[in-house]
Amino acid sequence: SARTIGFIGLGHMGGPMAANLVEAGHRVLGHDLVPELLAAAVGTGVTAAGSSARAAAAADVVITMLPAGRHVLGLYREEGLLAAARPGTLFIDCSTIDVADARSGHEAATAAGMRALDAPVSGGVVGAEAGTLTFMAGGGDTEFAEAEALLTVLGKKVVHCGGSGAGQAAKICNNMILGVSMIAVSEAFVLGESLGLSHQALFDVASTASGQCWALSVNCPVPGPVPASPANRDYRPGFAAPLMAKDLGLAANAARAGGVRAELGLRAAELYAAYAEGAGTDQDFSGIIDTVRDSGVR
Ligand code: NAD
Repeated sequence: SARTIGFIGLGHMGGPMAANLVEAGHRVLGHDLVPELLAAAVGTGVTAAGSSARAAAAADVVITMLPAGRHVLGLYREEGLLAAARPGTLFIDCSTIDVADARSGHEAATAAGMRALDAPVSGGVVGAEAGTLTFMAGGGDTEFAEAEALLTVLGKKVVHCGGSGAGQAAKICNNMILGVSMIAVSEAFVLGESLGLSHQALFDVASTASGQCWALSVNCPVPGPVPASPANRDYRPGFAAPLMAKDLGLAANAARAGGVRAELGLRAAELYAAYAEGAGTDQDFSGIIDTVRDSGVR
């Protein structure tokens, strides 16, 4: 059934997500600090709410798609989103944020008489536009069930990962696997090069043997074996290196906070931070193979 949705943060991801909710017949009251982004959203059928608080006040459900935890908590508290909403309004945060911030957000929402779910996504801008995102949700069963009906409009898969913060936890753990495995695959290709092994031969073996993983078989960091991978278009993203650096930073923080000995995850966070600040600033994360190759001992 059609619902009234407050949608805050109409950027790369939020813009197309809000448009897909309109397309599905929902009333979307949108807000973003950037007037051009708000105007673009209005062009897709979103109604300009005037402010975040006004969007929340009229909504059954409030979705946030913001850069980081401080933006989400700032809106909830300083910008008065929780104070403005009707009691029982469901707050779904789809941003990728610190697990601890997600839990603080849940606590603030429930203390204000609201309900909350963390529901970060994977799938990128392409998935946001096509409505094929994967959602990883954390929160109660009834909150999840209510959100699921909306999130299936925006994604192909919606997984209930557990209580408050579990969606964020699943997201950063998954991306820690991805960051580490991309570096491992890149090191293996560069080692193969130094041994005179062709990219295709290593691919043919590893992609059907125990080295198989997404970083190799789908997002292969060398051009050739997987024609659709970013390596074949000068590493145009795809999944941009700065976003991988951000997610690994969140994983590293959580590992340190929990006393977890994630040596490779912490190292991957350092390598991606350096790459994202330098040559990788506008590259796909698989472009890190160039830094492996360039810094190698010859
Ligand atoms: P973005 O920077 O394009 O969009 C965020 C928007 O929030 C901006 O337009 C900004 O103006 C707005 N904003 C910030 N503070 C605000 C406030 N107080 N009130 C209203 N609007 C405010 O970022 P994005 O690429 O859309 O990513 C959003 C989130 O999704 C991030 O947490 C990111 O890590 C995550 N994510 C992104 C991708 C991707 O491929 N872009 C993929 C998966 C997850």
